[in-house]
Amino acid sequence: MEYRHFNCILCLLRGTKALFRSCPHNYRFSQVVALHVAAAPTTKLFIDGKFVESNSSEWLDIHNPATNEVVGRVPKATQDEMLAAVDSCSRAYKSWSNTSILSRQQIFLRYQQLIKDNIKELAKMITLEQGKTLADAEGDVFRGLQVVEHACSITSLMLGETLPSITRDMDTYTYRLPIGVCAGIAPFNFPAMIPLWMFPIGMVCGNTYLMKPSERVPGCTMLLAKMLQDAGAPDGTLNIIHGQHAAVNFICDHPAIKAISFVGSNPAGEHIYERGSKNGKRVQSNMGAKNHGVVMPDASKENTINQLVGAAFGAAGQRCMALSTAIFVGESREWLPELVERSKSLRVNAGDQPGADVGPLISPEAKARVESLIQSGVDEGAKLLLDGRNVNVKGYENGNFVGPTILSNVSPSMTCYKEEIFGPVLVVLEADSLDEAISVINNNPYGNGTAIFTTNGATARKYTHEVDVGQIGVNVPIPVPLPMFSFTGSRGSFRGDTNFYGKQGIQFYTQIKTVTSQWKAEDATVTSPAVTMPTMGR
Ligand code: NAD
Repeated sequence: MEYRHFNCILCLLRGTKALFRSCPHNYRFSQVVALHVAAAPTTKLFIDGKFVESNSSEWLDIHNPATNEVVGRVPKATQDEMLAAVDSCSRAYKSWSNTSILSRQQIFLRYQQLIKDNIKELAKMITLEQGKTLADAEGDVFRGLQVVEHACSITSLMLGETLPSITRDMDTYTYRLPIGVCAGIAPFNFPAMIPLWMFPIGMVCGNTYLMKPSERVPGCTMLLAKMLQDAGAPDGTLNIIHGQHAAVNFICDHPAIKAISFVGSNPAGEHIYERGSKNGKRVQSNMGAKNHGVVMPDASKENTINQLVGAAFGAAGQRCMALSTAIFVGESREWLPELVERSKSLRVNAGDQPGADVGPLISPEAKARVESLIQSGVDEGAKLLLDGRNVNVKGYENGNFVGPTILSNVSPSMTCYKEEIFGPVLVVLEADSLDEAISVINNNPYGNGTAIFTTNGATARKYTHEVDVGQIGVNVPIPVPLPMFSFTGSRGSFRGDTNFYGKQGIQFYTQIKTVTSQWKAEDATVTSPAVTMPTMGR
């Protein structure tokens, strides 16, 4: 299907039923921002297969981070609306969990094609609400698409196990089955990828799904929901509610919800893990990070500096796998001036402007927080090698911009080291040896990701074995695994037993039924031979 009017965001945010086919506006993306301000289109709920206007009296504004103009509004769903959404999931579960796995697979095969055909349009929505550059927004969709593509292998992923003849005429085998209604709670920084880590895997396993996107970037999830409906997902298999704490607590408490996937900050993730688990639900909770890049003196200098700059400042540092901390080992510290020069060359601009490298932060509050953490570094004795505060972005003076910033001479006791900054700020430590660098990292509470830059295989091997972090890159700055593996953040970056996507994702969204059966050979019915072709139940 061609989504010809996909770029009429006014139409999309309003959730018009005519969506994509006969849009009356046909506004181009560039015309739409002003309209949003005037019209403040409202984000719909998606309940029982319908995009419906909320009756809520509480609404939040959605801002374009490059201008801080209001581009839409999102409701805090009422209790009745949330109950209607979960009831819809419960009703749909009965038939969806009994729908053949081949039919579910077909829907996701169509879905991956629709996403693929519309990456650019999804990216525009991400840039409008989240601020990242269009190229980065396409990457956001692409990494989510890969998870949907992987979900299409469900016929292999959901296989059970068999052990024949455990004793005479007795076999044991397992079925992998869905668990019921599942829910996802997403953060603002990957409006496509992270929701796509959640509902496609949950649903392809036969569960129905209640999704709560980030209230700051709901538009992309709404588009993804419409595409899933167009791919053939039956009404009620995916429901979407909006809101903040009340919606989250509703999900943690409702008895029909069997499992919760959460991605976001530590305070929210710890709360959801505890409250959901207390209520007997499975919870997987991916949380904050402080990722260290270790630079060895034998590393390839050009490559390492480029990788560091991209991984520290890309997406304005608003990635849970950003390399926000560098440890320069030995004489590699002499590369710092070049790192600073390369970082200066990045262009800070609105995400939809050609050539933009670093977009705005999500909100004025985020900008103020990042700037105060930079100041805390200066106050506590760090050296400000590059200061991105007061960056001037022509034409976007009201945006939440902070330019690339580098603090050196940082020690582990400083606030800028201890806190996740989540902005375009690289804090630099120095170490005399690899052992010292490993010890710093292993004493940090987070365990999401890390990278080592070296040309020595033995150094790389020692590092990968001794560092206590769940995802490690060797000359790879952002080692987010492809979906045939799982996202294996550890320690303070994760709560739960099974991780997102890959084999662990399938385990999370399924339960096992084990059958032990005995059919005695002597009881077999003997009949006359059938000579006609078997017709398999027809
Ligand atoms: P956030 O925790 O503020 O919000 C995430 C979700 O939780 C939202 O849907 C929000 O409505 C809800 N929420 C927020 N505060 C809550 C509270 N106190 N109680 C209940 N619910 C609450 O996170 P964010 O700012 O949207 O995202 C940034 C954070 O997410 C960073 O810490 C980043 O490291 C983390 N993150 C982690 C991963 C990962 O895979 N480990 C990936 C992306 C982002």
